[in-house]
Amino acid sequence: MAVQYGFFVDGTRCVKCFSCEVACQQWHGLKAGTWLRRTVFETVEGKFPSVTRRFTSLSCMHCEDPACVAVCPVGALSKRDEDGLVVVDSARCIGCRSCALGCPFDVPRYREDKTMDKCDGCLSLGRAPGEEPRCVLTCPTRALHFGPLSEMESLASAKGGARMEGETAPSVFVAHRLKPISES
Ligand code: SF4
Ligand code: SF4
Ligand code: SF4
Repeated sequence: MAVQYGFFVDGTRCVKCFSCEVACQQWHGLKAGTWLRRTVFETVEGKFPSVTRRFTSLSCMHCEDPACVAVCPVGALSKRDEDGLVVVDSARCIGCRSCALGCPFDVPRYREDKTMDKCDGCLSLGRAPGEEPRCVLTCPTRALHFGPLSEMESLASAKGGARMEGETAPSVFVAHRLKPISES
């Protein structure tokens, strides 16, 4: 693979406005109540009355060793050579949900046509190399970044952040430790 692309999600800047979620829903024509990106992780620092809450918006991690690709019985999921993004071929998907069971981050979502859907880095919208995905472009506080993983690492390091942990090697850097607060 040439270069692995991924995200840096800066929870020190996120204000939980949901603009990234809504932009993703709108541009990808998702039904209300369905998401490819969700703002569901929170960290709480300090003690009352000096408490800081931080939020982190996550989508597919485009893992370096994606479990979803490994378990798909019909090869509907693949990892692109040019940027490491993990994409799904809906024409091949048989709706068996193996990828949903295999993904450690509960990412794959199912459409009414019973095929799997997940973040494709806005490739289906015609995003060209070097352009940013819709969620990144929409974030009003510049909490989201997308690019070569080495660049994301540099941005995260400047904030004292680190790569997300996981046996699938998620291609996401975050600015702080994560704790799930909901499964909406
Ligand atoms: S986060 Fe889940 S769906 Fe996305 S690449 Fe990794 S294993 Fe696959
Ligand atoms: S990169 Fe595109 S598809 Fe992925 S979460 Fe952002 S807007 Fe949605
Ligand atoms: S658009 Fe930016 S500030 Fe708003 S929830 Fe998403 S990441 Fe946070």
